[in-house]
Amino acid sequence: MKFLVGQIPGGTAVFLVSGDSAINLTEQDSSLGPDLLGVMTSGKTLDELQDISTRGRSVPVASLKPALPIASPGMTICLGLNYVDHVKEGGYEIPKYPVFFMRTQRSLMPAGAPMMRPACSEQLDYEAELMVVIGKAGKHITPEEALNHVFGYTIFNDGSVRDFQRKSHQWTSGKNFDATGAIGPFVVSKDALPEGAAGLKIESRVGDEILQSATTSDMMWSVASTISAVSEFAALCPGDLIAMGTPPGVGHAKIPPRWLRDGETIEVEIEGIGICANPVVNEVKL
Ligand code: MG
Repeated sequence: MKFLVGQIPGGTAVFLVSGDSAINLTEQDSSLGPDLLGVMTSGKTLDELQDISTRGRSVPVASLKPALPIASPGMTICLGLNYVDHVKEGGYEIPKYPVFFMRTQRSLMPAGAPMMRPACSEQLDYEAELMVVIGKAGKHITPEEALNHVFGYTIFNDGSVRDFQRKSHQWTSGKNFDATGAIGPFVVSKDALPEGAAGLKIESRVGDEILQSATTSDMMWSVASTISAVSEFAALCPGDLIAMGTPPGVGHAKIPPRWLRDGETIEVEIEGIGICANPVVNEVKL
């Protein structure tokens, strides 16, 4: 099943998407709440959600303005250096343990919202990524059990400001500029995708210029092993998000570098999930 959290007057609502149309689930059952965390904690099964949707009226997906699938994730943790050829293009060593970093809430925005090109840097870069939406809490999760904790998958563009990312060995500033990390617009439940979302084509582009093109099977740490590794040190809770790292072809590794420019629209597509498109807009200094 495919979900979209959309903006409605006065808030947000969860829509069930089928083809080009969508049905407002929250309108039919307010216990589902305004975002996917509400749906997950409601205890409703996918079949029950399908039943609820039969009572609603259809609207065109194109008429919906996406919101973040999870309004306030408890944790947004990201993997760096998870595709071998991306490690090499960045001049890094192959890591022996997943390279984790966190993203703040204010660095994130939904698909469709402006991606802010900061006033202090010209080096805004894109990163196409698979994102895992955790649906079930756990700690010390084994790789064998890990996929039981997944609700579904969405798309992430881990927008990065490279000169700031490399100012120190901590990537925090370059990975947390306001409104640079795009999520969505769709979350696809895990049953509708291959196990661990493996083998999906992943691509980023501006217009017809293809910037990255790879498959999620090229990830060094799988979704299952990553969940297991995170849960060794941090409890996972419904609504937590895990970004799985980006394949090769990022802008800083191209010759000459291919930075995002004001007025462009950056798209990330993952097979079976959809397209996350965001216009790039220069920051206006207040
Ligand atoms: Mg990344």
